[in-house]
Amino acid sequence: MIQADLHVHTIYSSDSAIAPKALVEQLVAHDLVKVAAITDHDTVKGCNVTRQLASAYPDILIIPGVEISTQEGDIVVLGTDAMPPRPWAAENIVDFAKANGLVSVVAHPYREYGMGDKAQNYKVDAIEIFNGASPRLANEAAQKLAIRMGLPGVAGSDAHQTSELCTVHTQVQASLDIDEILKAIKKGLVSVPSHGRSIHF
Ligand SMILES: [Zn+2]
Repeated sequence: MIQADLHVHTIYSSDSAIAPKALVEQLVAHDLVKVAAITDHDTVKGCNVTRQLASAYPDILIIPGVEISTQEGDIVVLGTDAMPPRPWAAENIVDFAKANGLVSVVAHPYREYGMGDKAQNYKVDAIEIFNGASPRLANEAAQKLAIRMGLPGVAGSDAHQTSELCTVHTQVQASLDIDEILKAIKKGLVSVPSHGRSIHF
């Protein structure tokens, strides 16, 4: 069982102040959350440098990823250190994830740049049901969407400042291994304990 913050921005996002080193130090120091996914806006440039820094610590893990600004709303892709080809239509991003064994997640569906109800038109793998930067009502609507679609719900801080890291996390029934974690998310072997009541699918 691992605890992962599945939505983190580094300085490779123009609006984030989190240095890769600060993220690694946070995971090393944290007594519960030892895994984080890097999901910068439309770039994977921060993934390799952060993974390199993290490789010195056997008890933490960085999942490479990206948050793509699609025409239909933001989609997080977990597991990739390569960019999906353009055009970045939601359907193409979902197909890219499927073809490469990655996980596609509808990010904050009921906040600005979220897909909203349109998410139901795409074969995504999971819904972000708890986003640390979203208002409570938006997160509650996202939970209902996940239930309606019968999809696993995941959580992430959407941290842009170091102090926001790991404030929200997903519990995944997997060991400290990227492939295992991605497969477990797709199978729904996840819950969101930080939400107060655990949500299982
Ligand atoms: Zn984000």
